[in-house]
Amino acid sequence: MSLVVQKYGGTSVGDIERIRAVAERCLATQKKGHDLVVVVSAMAGETNRLLGLAGQITDTPEPREMDVLVSTGEQVSISLLAITIQALGGKARSFLGDQIGMRTDNLYGKARILSVDDNKVRTALEDGEVVIVAGFQGVDAEGNITTLGRGGSDTTAVALAAALKADVCEIYTDVDGIYTTDPSVCADAKKIERIAYEEMLELASLGAKILQVRSVEFGMNYGVPIHVRSSFEEREGSWVIPEEVSMEQVRVRGVACDLKAAKITIRGVPDIPGVAAKIFRPLAGAGINVDVIIQNVSEGGVTDVTFTVSREDMELAQRISQEIVETMAAEGTIVDEQVAKVSLVGVGMRSHAGVAAQAFDALAEASINIQMISTSEIKISCVVAEDDASKAVQVLHTAFELGSSNPTT
Ligand code: ADP
Ligand code: ASP
Ligand code: MG
Repeated sequence: MSLVVQKYGGTSVGDIERIRAVAERCLATQKKGHDLVVVVSAMAGETNRLLGLAGQITDTPEPREMDVLVSTGEQVSISLLAITIQALGGKARSFLGDQIGMRTDNLYGKARILSVDDNKVRTALEDGEVVIVAGFQGVDAEGNITTLGRGGSDTTAVALAAALKADVCEIYTDVDGIYTTDPSVCADAKKIERIAYEEMLELASLGAKILQVRSVEFGMNYGVPIHVRSSFEEREGSWVIPEEVSMEQVRVRGVACDLKAAKITIRGVPDIPGVAAKIFRPLAGAGINVDVIIQNVSEGGVTDVTFTVSREDMELAQRISQEIVETMAAEGTIVDEQVAKVSLVGVGMRSHAGVAAQAFDALAEASINIQMISTSEIKISCVVAEDDASKAVQVLHTAFELGSSNPTT
């Protein structure tokens, strides 16, 4: 018998009517002869609502308590789905993360899954139940509730699919697949039928929120095919799978945009060995992920170092940068919170030259100033002013003929 893991996002369980549609789909899947594990998110808007409640009390809540709070959204939706399936005459049982041994580390708010005890799930499946699991949550070694970061239900689903050796992990959401860029930003975006894990991993980490990065990592590491599709219709969606030879023929698979970037420049840094380490060690020590880095040509023995961080880390990064300025007798810091990172991704970049040049030409023609550039084997990222971001996405999307009017992607 085949085993299917399905994940339904917030919009897909947004109200009772939607939950009924999900329940019907679950029963239809079971009827086709599949064992079924279903992971659900909190109802649409609920996680934000809970965050907002705590925000009315303090800007600095204890992370442990925040996880106790935000994990409740999923408890509501798993129980409602189980009740609905039962009301329709089916068999279902809901489980919280700790009830199925979803063990994580103790990094509240961004915990990583360490292991899953699949026995409970298997027993329930043997009883013919639809097994419904709360997404986004786990439990650390001490029994504390943890959560996996925004979009974490994707990761719960793929991790479960990996642990249970499921045939497929289906991600049901409010779009009918993975597009060449966010279809809510670019009307011309085109659905991608098949995308390599590596490409999806880059797109997700560069800002495409359709899948959480860690879920793609699990898929890639454990060979779980991920099928992203709409919960509103039957149509086939997009498959995230191992790279195929033909995939290299396409230079650019998609465009991603990260609107949550911020830029810090440390001015007048002495240009001597060990300085970069002195700047970036304390930032790393504080758990801050530094992204793009550039160091200017030095003049008169001093230079400027500019880097980007996520906007969430901005305040802390700024404070640490100020301390660095003082210890190094540098000139000062300049902060720009209004930046965005626009990126092109494609495994075809390995074998095709000139992608970067073409991207820079297209941005120049649209009078978009590139503030920073970073590249790797299969991606090119440009930091631009936030106000230019959506135009930059459109321009690059058009320049590489990714739109729905073009049949080659
Ligand atoms: P869910 O609540 O189902 O997890 P999300 O809001 O997390 O849904 O993710 C789906 C959204 O991701 C889409 O509505 C779309 O706006 C956005 N998105 C961003 N990039 C892409 C992309 N390349 N392809 C499809 N959707 C994308
Ligand atoms: N409910 C969580 C969030 O809104 C997890 C998820 O939906 O994947 O981020
Ligand atoms: Mg999501």
